[in-house]
Order: sequence, then C-alpha cells, then structure tokens
Amino acid sequence: MKSLIEIPKKMKALNLHGVGDLRYEDVDVPALGAGMVLLKIKACGICSSDIPRIFTTGTYHFPTIPGHEFSGQIVAVGDDVDESLLGRRSCVFPMLPCRKCHACELEEWAQCSGYSYFGSRQDGGFAEYLAVPVWNLVPFSDSLSYEEAALCEPAAVSLHAVNISGIKKGDNAVIVGTGAIALLIGLFAKKRSETGKVIIAGRSADKLENAAKMGFETVNTSQEDISAGVKRITGRDGAEVAVEAVGTNEAISNAVKAAAALGKVVLVGNPYGDLNMEKNVYWSILRKQLTLAGSWNSSYNSRVNDWKEAISTFESGELALKGLISRTYKMSEYEQAFAAVRDKDTFTLRVMFTMD
Ligand SMILES: [Zn+2]
Ligand SMILES: [Zn+2]
Repeated sequence: MKSLIEIPKKMKALNLHGVGDLRYEDVDVPALGAGMVLLKIKACGICSSDIPRIFTTGTYHFPTIPGHEFSGQIVAVGDDVDESLLGRRSCVFPMLPCRKCHACELEEWAQCSGYSYFGSRQDGGFAEYLAVPVWNLVPFSDSLSYEEAALCEPAAVSLHAVNISGIKKGDNAVIVGTGAIALLIGLFAKKRSETGKVIIAGRSADKLENAAKMGFETVNTSQEDISAGVKRITGRDGAEVAVEAVGTNEAISNAVKAAAALGKVVLVGNPYGDLNMEKNVYWSILRKQLTLAGSWNSSYNSRVNDWKEAISTFESGELALKGLISRTYKMSEYEQAFAAVRDKDTFTLRVMFTMD
C-alpha cells in the first residue's frame, strides 16, 4: 500500500444501529482490499431515500453506515493500483454489481439481481474514510469543489431520466417536483432542448421561487391547474416530455395531464405507499397514446456513462449547481442536519455533510 498520510486505525462515522438509532461514533477505518483505494471523504449529501432508511424502514442489516452521494480525495492505493491516483479527487458510483447475472452481462448494472451498494447494503459515505474499488471511481479536476461533486450521484440519476425521455432540440418539458433531482432533471432537459420551455411544477412556493431564480418557468399546482399552466407558458396543449419526480398519486396524475398527445412520461419518484389513478387520468394515457417509461438509477457502462457525462458537465461550469446545495453540516451536527431535511417548513434542497 502507498499512502499520502498516516492512516489512522479509527475514524468517526454516523453508524445506523437500528431504525431511528443513528450514532456518531468511532469505528474501524476500512481495510484496503485488492484493486482498491482509500478515499478520505470530503462531502456526502443526504438523499431523500436516506430518510426512510434511517427513520422508518431501516436497511438490510445493522449496523450500517448510510450515505451514497459522496466525493473525496484518494489518500491511499493498494499495491496493485495505479499510483497516479494518489491525491486525486473522485466521486464514487455506489453500486457493486454481482457480474454474474444477465443484466451484468449487458453492463446494465442498475438492473443487477444480486448487487451490493455503498450506504445501504454495505457501509457508505457518512464517514471519514471508505475503501473503494478503482472501477467505481469517477475522478474530477481540482477546479470542482467537493460539495458540488457530491451532487454527481443525483445528477447521474437525473441525466439518466433525461436520456430515457428522449427530449430533443425544441421540445418543451414539464418536471413535476421541486427537489434536487427535479431541478437537475430540469437543468439537463434545458441543455438538451436548447430552445424549448422547461417548466418546474410543484406545490411549495419557496422551492418554486428558487426554481424561477435558476431560470425555470414554474407552475404552482396548488393554485393553477397544470394543463392550464403549461398552456399559459408554451401556448400549446401539453409538453412533449413530462417527468414525475415525486412519487405520489397527484404528481403522477399531473405528469400525465402535462404531457401532450403522443408525448412521453418518465417516472422517477420513489413511491412512499400504494398508488392509484383516477379513471379519467388513465383514459387520457390511452387517448393521448402516451408512452410511460420507468427510470432507475443511472448507466455506468462503455456505451452510456451518466456519471462521466454529469461530472464533465459540472467541470464545464455550465450548470447552476450552487442553487442546489442549501446547507452543509459537520457529521457531529447530524441531529440538526436531519431535522432540517425532515422539517417540511424549512427550505432545503441538498443538505450535505462536509468533513475536514
Ligand atoms: Zn440518492
Ligand atoms: Zn448482476
């Protein structure tokens, strides 16, 4: 092993011992296996999926260190690993595929039937260090901050949905949702559409105001019918592309209503309960002959690599990323951090832990 620093035996981490039982404590620094580097984690976002994982549903086994949206510096490399990686900044594709199933043969890792995952099935990024296989590294230039780079995971998920939408130059798009993923989908949709309108639709006045500041058209669906809002902004009945990034009955209905005849609806939001649909909304899927598509995670293969594309777009500076990080906390302040994310009255987009 070659390292830049003296590697300590113990580190601080947020370790989940049971549902609702997250502890800031000392744990062992992970050992470096073959083909791995040790990443000193510098920033790790709190994903909305971390909230049920920590507070209601739990995860696959306890204890587990959550966190899958992170970036850091490579401070040690295994003997069999390229030394030039030492000191580099990197994000991490958090999936560890089985490499045996049919999806893995196709390099469609997100559909792997036997994968592991940093931050849910095994320890993740709410920690000072993590041992990561070289294959999972997405290095980035020193000009990009660790905080911005920690948005690479939600950005890759967003870019994946935009690719599935098939949006092309001049198309209008409606994104139902006002969270970080919705806004990132909006930013990538704008980049692809160039001349079309990109509308962010939701119910939170604060978040819509933020979206408007980022240059989006907005529809507040608690005040205006979504179809009327799309008509007001585009002058047309529906948009070529509608993306649902909430996971509720109402948001899915709104995405269907916002789509033009022969349009495409991409479903991204994770549902929190059973879903159902009004008959009239279902009818309109048939009558408008809509295409519905699911989007899951991201592509990370030799044909399409949402991670590399997302990070190079970040490096180019063309996306307004600063508007997406609302607060940063130290890991020791985890109670305040999670309270801010969970409090419906506090305006947050991506809340992050930053480490020294
Ligand atoms: Zn996430
Ligand atoms: Zn597999």
